[in-house]
Amino acid sequence: MLETEKFQIFNPVRIVYGKGELENSRDIFGVSQVLVICDPFVSTSEYFKRAMEKYKSVFIYDKIVPNPPCEMIDEIIESVYEYSKGAPKFDGVIGIGGGSTLDTAKAISSLLVSEGKLSDYIEGKKRFDRRLPLMLVPTTSGTGSEVTNVGVYTLNGIKRPMTSPTFWADVALIDPILTYSMPRRIAATTGLDALTHAVESYWAISTQPYTEGLALRAAKMILESFEASIDGEEWARDEMAVAATIAGVAFSQTRTTAAHAISFPITSFYNVEHGLACALTLPSLIRWTYKFVSKKMDDFASYLGLKDVEELAKKVEQLMEYSGFSRRLRDYGVKENELEEIAKVSMEANIINLTPGKPSYDDVLRILKEIY
Ligand code: NAD
Repeated sequence: MLETEKFQIFNPVRIVYGKGELENSRDIFGVSQVLVICDPFVSTSEYFKRAMEKYKSVFIYDKIVPNPPCEMIDEIIESVYEYSKGAPKFDGVIGIGGGSTLDTAKAISSLLVSEGKLSDYIEGKKRFDRRLPLMLVPTTSGTGSEVTNVGVYTLNGIKRPMTSPTFWADVALIDPILTYSMPRRIAATTGLDALTHAVESYWAISTQPYTEGLALRAAKMILESFEASIDGEEWARDEMAVAATIAGVAFSQTRTTAAHAISFPITSFYNVEHGLACALTLPSLIRWTYKFVSKKMDDFASYLGLKDVEELAKKVEQLMEYSGFSRRLRDYGVKENELEEIAKVSMEANIINLTPGKPSYDDVLRILKEIY
């Protein structure tokens, strides 16, 4: 029996996967004068430099910091105007890096042809209705940002997700070679993010059969390759690159739920990496939501070859341990008397209402106390 009376699928991003495809990116993207927003480690790589030689002109901005602050994005716009001596003349924008860089590139491609500052758009005072052509090339296997219409920015010290029709890229270019340089910790935190996307998209109240298939496939690939990926095996990095994008397409339709909502204050207040912050509450949420989605989660566990949902929760805990991460909030600098504030801020993210059972403030606080 269908759980949803109505649903629609909309994801206009062209996805191109291939080892070594960065070198063909000029032909894939089809533009020649580009603004490249990239991670600092990308701009120094020979592989990247070779690929950029194929473009007619390239302006590179590579001073991206994680959890992109709005001030950084405003500064990039200023630098680009300074470089262009007036209105910029790019045919397109390329973002190459982790989710922070891809989200930055999304905002830049829209702001370059719009008025005002990013904060106006986050606060809903203005809406983007155009952007420059945009290609996104992930170097982590986690966020799925390359295939979503979401951007996450830090405004006044708090992470704020926003959606915009202009944040769908024209092309998501998945070249797993770019992920081979991820150190173990980054491979682990981003892999946990991808796993959280698959689980949350699958159980979200907004789920539907199309995305369930994607979430199941992504989760299976992630469980099969996570450990080898963080150990640096290339076959597993390739698999994680694909799985993270598939999970991204899944949650681009459903959005995420409580694990993401609770992760925002944990990252903003204690600087815990995004994927790790999501995974901290995932096992407890798997157990908590079970009573609302039992049959569905039994199917999920069974497809993954696990005995039951408890085994799924334990599997997430085991992957965190394998990665060397504590599962206790106290180990990340959280004080017990701060749990109420974390719960309060978590409730402000409206994705919390997409969680099966719609957890209340008290439920969230109970979960936070459980993992304290
Ligand atoms: P990140 O982009 O913040 O990068 C973390 C660190 O990893 C940086 O220092 C970066 O330089 C480094 N790094 C990235 N790729 C590397 C590589 N191949 N080799 C070596 N170092 C590398 O990390 P992330 O987890 O990819 O992105 C997190 C951000 O994405 C958060 O702001 C999160 O909220 C956001 N996010 C966005 C969406 C979306 O749909 N837009 C979804 C989930 C998360």
